[in-house]
Amino acid sequence: MGFIYQEVQMHSGKGKPDNIEIRIRPHVGIRGRCSQCQRPAPGYDRLPERLWLFVPLWGIPTYFRYAPRRVECAEHGVVVEHIPWSDGKRPVTCAMMGFLARWARRLSWRETAQVFQTSWEAVYRSVEWFFQWGLAHRELRQIESLGVDEIHWGHGLRADNFLTVIYQIDAHCRRLLWVGKRRSEVTLRRGLKALGPEVTKGLRFVCSDMWKPYLNVIAAQAGQALHVLDRFHITTHLNQAVDQVRRSESSRLRAAGKASAERLKHMRWPLLRKGSRVRGRARQKLNALLASKLATARAWELKETFSYLWHYKSVLWAGAFLDYWTERARRSRLEPMKKVARMLRAHEELLLNWFRAKGEISAGTVEGLNNKIRVVTRRSYGFRTYEAMEIALYHTLGRLPEPESTHRFC
Ligand SMILES: [Zn+2]
Repeated sequence: MGFIYQEVQMHSGKGKPDNIEIRIRPHVGIRGRCSQCQRPAPGYDRLPERLWLFVPLWGIPTYFRYAPRRVECAEHGVVVEHIPWSDGKRPVTCAMMGFLARWARRLSWRETAQVFQTSWEAVYRSVEWFFQWGLAHRELRQIESLGVDEIHWGHGLRADNFLTVIYQIDAHCRRLLWVGKRRSEVTLRRGLKALGPEVTKGLRFVCSDMWKPYLNVIAAQAGQALHVLDRFHITTHLNQAVDQVRRSESSRLRAAGKASAERLKHMRWPLLRKGSRVRGRARQKLNALLASKLATARAWELKETFSYLWHYKSVLWAGAFLDYWTERARRSRLEPMKKVARMLRAHEELLLNWFRAKGEISAGTVEGLNNKIRVVTRRSYGFRTYEAMEIALYHTLGRLPEPESTHRFC
């Protein structure tokens, strides 16, 4: 491509090499190319030498040293030549940016910087470059199913501590499409707008929780799509209700000095697990608890019974089961369970859409993606800004296309 390695120098202090410099010169017989149109153009002058950080060789920081030429393009005038290893004014070669960005998916950004002897800032800029390239080249075709959810991050419960995420949850492609601060109608509208009307109009399924702002926006903007309540959200609501019953019963019994309070000790996790997954000693304790006539036992049984719903194939039978279950919950005299029953009743149609979608939406997709997001936000202790974390999320979960990883200079 018109460039030649001229010489390699090692710079060292106290015997150990500090860095390697690769001096590059242009090929005499080949003209420089215009950085705008990449067509060859006559030379104009040369700029001072610059350094670019390259991929480390033998663990030693390595730089390219080169004095860029300016060329006189017939169309674009006097411009800096096209330099294949560089992108604009960035002090890091594209090869190194790609290298750091790929490692930043496996290690935290801080670790990446440490291992490759560079700065956190350099890792950040590299991931940013990689991400921007990917976003610019991303294709949004054939998106049929969206998952919309909220994620809590950081400390506290302020509006800014929530993120709205939009996933593609098709069987052929599961990825993060958009993330934004807060969880209001405005946020979701902003997200759908960013994806564009073609995406919204092409949707067949949207999967979300019973969060009012989301329900409103989805109904207004993707009315043609079948809106399905996500199964894992419903399980979460049921679990929270069981836990509320347990907590208040436990403090009530302890306050009254009852021995049966013992039965509820250390039972939080066994109660929240799926019944068939509780084994060993926890199972014995659970059985003993169920044999008691405690409110917690009744709440747990209601929760377990509810899971039968998912076995139905027919909307009609699922609806009949839902009637039966909500009626039982209503008469349970357990306020948290009654509250869930009311909520499910209010969204019955959306709940039954699960059965209308007939297995076209897989149950765990949104949950699985949420878990992956949590891994990144937890790693986010090192992210200094919200923007950095947002980039990290797209970078690890967006399945963005990647720039070519090899750059040839000769
Ligand atoms: Zn040009």
